[in-house]
Order: sequence, then structure tokens, then C-alpha cells
Amino acid sequence: MNLKYEKERREIIDIGIKMSDTKLVVGTWGNISRRINENLMAITPSGIDYSILEPKDIPILDLEGNIIDGKTKPSTEYNLHMEVYKCRKDTHAIVHTHSTYCTAFAIARKVIPATVEDLVQIVGGNVRVGEYALPGSLELAKNTIKALEGRNAAILANHGALAVGRNLNEALKIALILEKSAEATIYAKILGKVVELNDEDVKYMRDFYLNSYGQR
Ligand code: 13P
Ligand code: ZN
Repeated sequence: MNLKYEKERREIIDIGIKMSDTKLVVGTWGNISRRINENLMAITPSGIDYSILEPKDIPILDLEGNIIDGKTKPSTEYNLHMEVYKCRKDTHAIVHTHSTYCTAFAIARKVIPATVEDLVQIVGGNVRVGEYALPGSLELAKNTIKALEGRNAAILANHGALAVGRNLNEALKIALILEKSAEATIYAKILGKVVELNDEDVKYMRDFYLNSYGQR
């Protein structure tokens, strides 16, 4: 029998393996989703190792939280993914990580400053910390959406990070750049002071990324 949305489900598994291989997560924590259409998303199941996932293990949910296809229990963070898709029509993919350096910022509840080109180009500026809420809660979703305003990433207090993109490859890339920026910022603090880019240059670099960067 044909599996519905097989291509989309496979894509989530591929990104999950890359997320694990690049050490953005350890074990089964972290989760990934992609939009299927205006009212449907595919999301990783809760607590299943990324390396053993098969397309049929990826549940399809509508944006009210109903399981439309699949037999596994969806990620405990389905509220977070669902609410972001409802509020951010430009978002087609979400990667939630527990990467080490982002988690350090999450524990210290400190903003990752807008200091380098790749970060500001792809995220749109500094990366704010959402107000603390329990994992899986609707409150966590609401707090994260607030922290995401005008950005493609946010830190989840005492928890981890969230990256949102136009597709899964972009969302994973954002999560990796976020982690690299968090690491570099900690080293910069050890070396001396952290110098932030000014707002005008941040805006210039963001516009450049959106309108001119790369092959067109
Ligand atoms: P799931 O395995 O349920 O996706 O939970 C992992 C996680 O990161 C919770 O915040
Ligand atoms: Zn988490």
C-alpha cells in the first residue's frame, strides 16, 4: 500500500540523522517538522531514535493537533511546532535542538548577540530567549513565538533552541549557525569584550541575504 506523504516523511528522517550526526542533539531529544500544506504538518515521533525511523513512523497532524495519518505518538513538542506554523506563514520547516552552546545561553538566559555575518544574514539579528515554560506546554509555544518576532531562531530558557526556515535544509543550517555563533560568543567573552554589529549593518546584511546572496 502506498504511504501518504512518503517524500516529506523521508525528508524529516534525513534531517534527523544529520541533526544527530552533527551533535545538535544527543539521544532522542530535539524534534523536527515540516509543513505539508496550510493545515497539515509531518513531525518526528516522541522518543524514537533517529537512526531507526522509517517513513511510516512519522505522524501527520493537522494544526489543531489531530493525528491524520500514522500510528506513533507525535513529539511532545507538537504544540510548539503547530503554533509556530499558525503564526508564521513564511515558516515551512522547524528544527528544535538541545545543542550544547545554545543550551549554555538557555541556562544563563542570555541573548546571543548579533555579531557575525552568517548569523545576522540567516536569522535576521540577535537571538532572544523566550520566557521559561515547561517542555511541551502551550505556554512554551506562546513564549517562543514572542521571542521569534522578526527572527528565524529563538532560545528556549533552560531547554534549548528553535530554528525555523523556508525548508528543512535551511532550518537545519540555521540551527548549525546558531550553535557555531553561541560557541564563538563564549570564546569571545573569554578573550575580552563582545562587539555587536550596529542595526543598520545588520539590516543591510539581512536584505543582502534575502535579495542578492548566492546564485540567482
Ligand atoms: P520528543 O522526543 O517528544 O520530541 O521530545 C524531545 C524534546 O526535545 C522535548 O522538548
Ligand atoms: Zn526539547
